[in-house]
Amino acid sequence: MSITSSHQLRHPFSLTCRHCDAGMDMETPEQATAAGWTEIEDVADEGFLEANYLGLCPDCKREED
Ligand SMILES: [Zn+2]
Repeated sequence: MSITSSHQLRHPFSLTCRHCDAGMDMETPEQATAAGWTEIEDVADEGFLEANYLGLCPDCKREED
């Protein structure tokens, strides 16, 4: 299930895009969702990069569509 609300967070929110390096300026899931991010997932347990959450940024979503 993708994360859209701060209430769903189990870790401090830090975000990066699955395709590019966008996302570090996003401070909450609400802010990211409002900016057009989708598919935000908790990846903290996977030790992925420095971000606890991985998503699809608006620019990359546009390219996928
Ligand atoms: Zn991206």
